[in-house]
Amino acid sequence: MKLRNRIHLYTSVLFIGLLILIHTAIYFAFSQMILKSELEQTTLEAERIMEALGQTEDSVPAADLLRAYVPINGMIRVVNPDGSQLTTVTAAEQENLFDQPFVFQQSEQREIVEYDGIPYSYVSVPVIWTNGEIVNLQITESLEPVADNLQVLRIVLIVVTVIATIPVLLSAGLLSNLLTKPISSMIETMREIRKSGHFKRIHLPEKSQNELYLLGETFNEMMDLLEKNYAKQEQFVSNASHELKTPLTIIESYASLLKRRGKKQPELFDESVDAIHSEAIRMKDLIQQLLLLAKHDEQWHVEMTQIPLTEFAEAAVRSFREGYKREVVIEADEEVIVKADKPKLKQLLFILLDNARKYSEAPIQVKIGTKQKKAVIEVIDRGMGIPASELPKVFDRFYRVDRARKRGGYGLGLSLAKELAEVMGAEVRIESTEGIGTNAQIWLPLQNSH
Ligand code: ADP
Repeated sequence: MKLRNRIHLYTSVLFIGLLILIHTAIYFAFSQMILKSELEQTTLEAERIMEALGQTEDSVPAADLLRAYVPINGMIRVVNPDGSQLTTVTAAEQENLFDQPFVFQQSEQREIVEYDGIPYSYVSVPVIWTNGEIVNLQITESLEPVADNLQVLRIVLIVVTVIATIPVLLSAGLLSNLLTKPISSMIETMREIRKSGHFKRIHLPEKSQNELYLLGETFNEMMDLLEKNYAKQEQFVSNASHELKTPLTIIESYASLLKRRGKKQPELFDESVDAIHSEAIRMKDLIQQLLLLAKHDEQWHVEMTQIPLTEFAEAAVRSFREGYKREVVIEADEEVIVKADKPKLKQLLFILLDNARKYSEAPIQVKIGTKQKKAVIEVIDRGMGIPASELPKVFDRFYRVDRARKRGGYGLGLSLAKELAEVMGAEVRIESTEGIGTNAQIWLPLQNSH
């Protein structure tokens, strides 16, 4: 069953059930109350007759006295202890009561009885008769008007229940619509997205704090994110294929040159093989970087250990110095111990050092210290710097400040650095002034911080 129909059905059944329950309770409470009060009334009458009997003088026959007291819609009967009737007086319209069976009751009785479908209040009390014998004074009084009133009440309650069902059904329908409309629209949008392959948004009328609005809003935000990621992915693939095209074209042209004239001109051979070799290395580097970037966060195997930064930086810088023959100065004011993944931190530091090397000539400075309860490694160069307008983009994949600057790589270094930092819970920040230099920083959680 659809959610909409289910909500409609459940709320309707619940409300109607509740209505029936309340009305039944009202009916029974009211009828009990009214019947009880009728019984009390009859008992009072019996007491009044008892009193009159006690005061009467022998001159007035008891039967005559009873006639004066007979209820207009009932009967008074006096029953002997042997079960025979001493006397019976009935109202004019209640003569049929005369034939109803009767017994001698040992104690006082009060109950509602039914003769021919009509309820009667019946009270039997023991009294001392004028002859000194204990007899039963039994009063039976018709409750037909009360039964009629109860019948009217029953009809009114049934009609009210039926009439109230209509707004209940309507409002349950409205409620189920209200609840399921945004969900249906979401399903519709999702189907359209699946069919067309375009990212669409749900139309949200007014801002509100209800869960359905928030659901729609979250859906739209998710769509934004998916669309952005999809565009990024597309951009990434197109950039990657573009970057791979250049070395492949160079390799292809040198290979065909070799094919055509390699045998006749041996001097071409060395040049071509060198070019093909260096392009193949560049391609390999690029593919390695691409593979690293394509990894999802959960695929990174992170192993956090305690790292004393000065010792770590000195070891990393030593191999860098040897490899590139560049001067790197380490400055550490204090011993800082961090929690990080050692190989990843090393790779990260190398990316920053490599950039400092590529874009500057002067000695590179590596500073270790703490700021704002974090450990910070700064890689400072006095090179060409990055224009302020370009700074926010340097972390984008394949972004290079000036493509004409021949020195750089593929523009993947810093985006890789950012991802490496993120998986370790660290952060990379770049401060730079064009023409003066760049300060690239790694912010790490301190060992004792939680
Ligand atoms: P690349 O491999 O091209 O260096 P990166 O992602 O590491 O790619 O850097 C992106 C761009 O930011 C580089 O192309 C370069 O123009 C600029 N850049 C990065 N580091 C520095 C630096 N230390 N000094 C000057 N420019 C830099």
